[in-house]
Amino acid sequence: MNNPDCLFCKIVAGEIKADIVYETDHLLAFRDINPQAPTHVLIIPRRHVATINDVAVAEAEDEIGRLFAAAAHIARLEGIADDGYRAVMNCNEAAGQTVFHLHLHLLGGRNLSWPPG
Ligand code: 5GP
Ligand code: ZN
Repeated sequence: MNNPDCLFCKIVAGEIKADIVYETDHLLAFRDINPQAPTHVLIIPRRHVATINDVAVAEAEDEIGRLFAAAAHIARLEGIADDGYRAVMNCNEAAGQTVFHLHLHLLGGRNLSWPPG
């Protein structure tokens, strides 16, 4: 496993169950356990990268691009692409990051206010 202490690495490894909606060789997408919108999917690289701050060091730029491409694909599958959705990544405590394995939140199915809290 990538990082034995990481919750999302355990989901990648199949040690913790998740409601998977899409996967490729590079990434996994599953429903958030505490959804904040009718569609709330987390899209993660299979490889462990902790935060956005680590992307350049880990040379994970391609993974980031793939996460967004997957978000657009899943938005179509979920029927929220045309109405609109939000794809957002929190970095570190002040932004509310609680799981330190890179993840893109895909939120949609309701009107989302801006600015976020
Ligand atoms: P963050 O706050 O780090 O940006 O987002 C972490 C997200 O992971 C939260 O929205 C939280 O609800 C979700 N989460 C935490 N533990 C689990 C879990 O075991 N399974 C799933 N599917 N989602 C989880
Ligand atoms: Zn991890």
